[in-house]
Formats: sequence, structure tokens, C-alpha cells
Amino acid sequence: MSEQMICIGCGVTIQTEDETKIGYAPPSALEKDPVICQRCFRLKHYNEVQDVSLTDDDFLNILHGIGQADGLVVKIVDIFDFNGSWLPGLHRFVGKKDVLLVGNKVDLLPKSVKHEKVTRWMKQSARELGLQPRDVFLVSANKGYGMKEVMAAIDEYRNGKDVYVVGCTNVGKSTFINRIIKEATGKGNVITTSYFPGTTLDMIEIPLDDGSALYDTPGIINHHQMAHFVDKKDLKVITPKKEIKPKVYQLNEQQTLFFGGLARLDYVSGGRRPFVCYMSNELFIHRTKREHADELYEKHLGELLQPPRKSYCEQLPPLVAHHFTLKEPKTDIVFSGLGWVTCHEPGAHVVAYAPKGVGVMLRRSLI
Ligand code: GDP
Repeated sequence: MSEQMICIGCGVTIQTEDETKIGYAPPSALEKDPVICQRCFRLKHYNEVQDVSLTDDDFLNILHGIGQADGLVVKIVDIFDFNGSWLPGLHRFVGKKDVLLVGNKVDLLPKSVKHEKVTRWMKQSARELGLQPRDVFLVSANKGYGMKEVMAAIDEYRNGKDVYVVGCTNVGKSTFINRIIKEATGKGNVITTSYFPGTTLDMIEIPLDDGSALYDTPGIINHHQMAHFVDKKDLKVITPKKEIKPKVYQLNEQQTLFFGGLARLDYVSGGRRPFVCYMSNELFIHRTKREHADELYEKHLGELLQPPRKSYCEQLPPLVAHHFTLKEPKTDIVFSGLGWVTCHEPGAHVVAYAPKGVGVMLRRSLI
């Protein structure tokens, strides 16, 4: 491949090696003139944005670019993995720009959950994480729930300016933008062949009616998510596809729950009490005595305790113990990307295990 070929759509340097990375074009595309990356090709011909990821440094550059530009920032998080999909650095870059915070995948929460309560929780959590969003929304990008409201808000808050949509990979950013494109433009082409934005922020520009644009920024990979530690088939098991049915376990002290073979919760002390598990309905939860847990894990990982499947066990990093004393009422013990376990009363001492590198934390209960 000749050096430094540039995409005419977004200005990115073209590469032909990695389809999942930014700037990818199949080798056959290089014979065409002008050259266009696969991401722009999809947008141009199918009105569809495609998810690409990039390195942390590139992402910081993009955030920096957004920081310098004028416009509205729409930050998307996965409500099933709020903390894991949070972009920790964003608030430092956005300065005084308005931010709309959008929690996607609300269809996964039990129907009984009041949305106002969740948006209140999101506002408060955002503030604790250093971000002051102008407004907070819950949507289901693939079901279409809440999209009209968020689109109206985008239009109101952008005030004729550009819109930057940011979010880490897998939050549903592409689904969200594709729905906006569809609702806003019908089936017409979003960009034309003559279109040349001349921006090099590695963003895809989607023109809005008044000459401004909506920019799709590439998603950053959040390395603490469970998704990076399992293979594709197992990821299907742990990713909830529909409304989560919480599972309640009344645990005695010194009992253990295994979440497949990917995580484990030891209940050490605090008297008999319920633990409510919010995880994919397909994930097998196994209860055992704590004194048998190590041996069970050693013997049955990849069989009784799966995912991971047998063939993938060796690639799974060892489980690491995180000790917690739950001091507040209504606390979630969160396993990033896998779900969470709610404990309603304070005073429990637990040990939560997850593969080395996967985030485990406590938070005020979401539900
Ligand atoms: P991106 O990486 O942020 O661009 O995310 P995608 O749009 O590719 O979506 C990632 C995954 O989340 C896909 O499996 C989607 O089907 C799923 N997804 C997207 N939106 C929703 C939603 O509203 N609800 C649910 N349950 N899943 C969604």
C-alpha cells in the first residue's frame, strides 16, 4: 500500500490491515479514486455509521479537538454498564459546553423500574464523576424508545451549532446515530460524492438541515469491561438482550455465588440476608458453601461454571479478590459489563472476585 493515503470522506489515513480500527478500507478500495474508508463508504451508500475503535491516545486527541470546537456534546452510556462505559476524562475537555447525557439500553431494566428515578440517579452519579450534564435521557436506541425526546433536546440545546456524539465502544452509539439519521433523513443519501468536510478529527460528519453537523466520534475501548476477557460466543451469554429478571438469593454467612466462571461473590458476615442479582437471564448462577468454592472453581471451570467455555479457560485471567464492607443501605456491587448485585441493608462484609483487569466497585443502588 502506498504511504499515507487519505480518506476523502473524513481525512483519516487509510489502512488495510485491521477492519475494526479506524481508517480501514479493503485492498480493492485502494484502486478507486478517490479513496474512501469503509466507515465513510457505509455512511455514503447505506446511510449507516459503523463502529470503529481507536487507541487511548487518539481518543484523547479527539476529545481535545472537541474541547476546542464550539457545539453540543451528546455523551452516551450503557445503562447496564454505567460505570464501565463512562468516559472518565470527558468533563476535563468539554469546558463550558453543554453536555446531554444519554443512558442507552433502558429496555434491559425491569419494567417496574421508574425512569425518573434512574435519570435522577444518573444526574447525581454524573455530578459525582465530575460532569454536569444539561439534561439526562433514557433511551433504547434499537427499540426507538425515548428517541424523539432526545432528538428534540439535541435540536434545542445545540442552538444552531454542531453536535458531537461520544461514547465508548458497545454503548450503542452507532445504533443511536443510525436511528437519528433514519428519522431525520428518511431513506435519502446523507452525504454525496462531492461532499468533503475537510475535518481531520477522525469524525464522521452528518449534515444537519441548517448547515451544522452531527459528528460521530469513534468509540474508545474501555479496557475494564468484561467484554474484553471473553470470546464472542460467551459474550452473547453475558450480554442481556431483553428485560433483566432479577434473581434473589437469600444467603447465609459463608456462602458463595458463582456467576458462570467469570465472577464470584463470597458472603462473609452480616447475618442471613437477600442479595438481588441483575445479570443476563442466560448467565448461570451457582450457589455453594464458601469452604468448597475454591475447589469447585478449580474442578468445574468451563463445565458447570461457564462461561468461559472449556476451550477458552486458559485465556481467562485469574480471579482477583476485592474486599468490601457495605456501609450504606441499598448498595450495588458492580462487576463491570457483567451486571451487579444489590444489597439492601448495610453491614455485610463480602469478597467480590472478577478476572484480573475487570472493574469491581460499590455504588449507590441504581434500582
Ligand atoms: P457502538 O459500539 O457504541 O457503536 O454500539 P452498537 O450500536 O454497535 O451496539 C452495540 C451492541 O448493543 C449491539 O449488540 C446492539 O444490538 C446493542 N444495542 C444497541 N442499542 C441497544 C438498545 O437500545 N438496547 C439493547 N438491549 N441493546 C442495544
